[in-house]
Amino acid sequence: MRCDHCSNDVPDGVFCTRCGAHQGTTGELGKASASAKIREHSYAAHPAEHVVQPSVFTTLFPHLGQHKIHEFRWAFAVGLAGIALLYVAGLITAAILVATFLVPVLYLIYLYEAQVYRDEPAIVLGFTIGGGAVIGLVLTLIERAAYNPFPAVGNPLTNIGVSVGTLLFLGLLVPVVQEALKPLPALFLPNRLNFPETVDGLVFGVAAGLGFSVAESLVAFSSALTSLPAHLTPGNWIFDLTTLAVFQPLLQGSATGMIVAAVWRYRRGSLAGREIGGVAMAVIAHVAFSLGTLLLKESAVSPLLVLVFQAVVVGALLIYVRYLLHHALLEEAAHMGFAETVCPNCHMHIVASGFCPNCGVALTASPNALKRARKPVGEEPTKASSGSA
Ligand SMILES: [Zn+2]
Ligand SMILES: [Zn+2]
Repeated sequence: MRCDHCSNDVPDGVFCTRCGAHQGTTGELGKASASAKIREHSYAAHPAEHVVQPSVFTTLFPHLGQHKIHEFRWAFAVGLAGIALLYVAGLITAAILVATFLVPVLYLIYLYEAQVYRDEPAIVLGFTIGGGAVIGLVLTLIERAAYNPFPAVGNPLTNIGVSVGTLLFLGLLVPVVQEALKPLPALFLPNRLNFPETVDGLVFGVAAGLGFSVAESLVAFSSALTSLPAHLTPGNWIFDLTTLAVFQPLLQGSATGMIVAAVWRYRRGSLAGREIGGVAMAVIAHVAFSLGTLLLKESAVSPLLVLVFQAVVVGALLIYVRYLLHHALLEEAAHMGFAETVCPNCHMHIVASGFCPNCGVALTASPNALKRARKPVGEEPTKASSGSA
């Protein structure tokens, strides 16, 4: 059949394998054609979801198919339950450690699972997670030297009344400097030319952000980790633990992921308002997160409200990451050549170019093992080859 959107001859399917457009939805209204091509109801990395949906795993773990996503959601839930158990048992130090490492360890498993780093795990992991951790360690130590949040342990009164200078430092300067430095290891990846896709850039950025997050959290909680008795009555720690296990790593990971993805787009020569907006969104979200958390804690509102605020900021950031990735996948997946493969999402055997004709998933975001197993089948639909040059 002939695609109504890109005019290539493509195999029959619900989605066009060349441009990813949702077929059979033209001619209803004037606007239908554009929306079928952009298909925001069907997120390119996970077609069962809308683009505008604050989902963590299908956004930051874009190579995983439906089934694997569920495994990771379960592992995350089990980790959170473990933290809650440690907290209830009064093992706060252990709970802090598990909370710090939960998301980064899941990400490491994901990188292995999808083989995002292809043949060079050491270089890629070293420059992303490792580089992020080194920058996180150095930067957080400098921040602590400049401003110590616990100047006099045992006298909590000294913490009351945060000055304007403190707000500007912790709420504005620190987030902006962090967003400027966190992406550096991923950006200077020596073999980056082997990873031209924006989805790779995103994943490397997230990994660097999570490496940073581990180092930052360990330094920030170092005094608690070393001075708290191994066992104590659970106090208000559950709120800090939630931030530490969920919102802090997700913020650090997705902000850096978005910035690195935008730079990847720039290197491909497709920098547009969407990418500049992505960088701005990452910085603004980080400032809002830090400043808002400080001000809310200062005004002594319910700690639950602080968590709700953090969730809203992280949710908005995740949606922008998806929006950026969705359009990057639609634009970049068009020239892969026809090949026999198995769809990582719906598990159908398909002859496809850039998108699964059945479920519409972008095949650039499939695990590396599947990409290798692609069997080229020549240019089956004859007219397709002439138009692609
Ligand atoms: Zn098409
Ligand atoms: Zn599929």
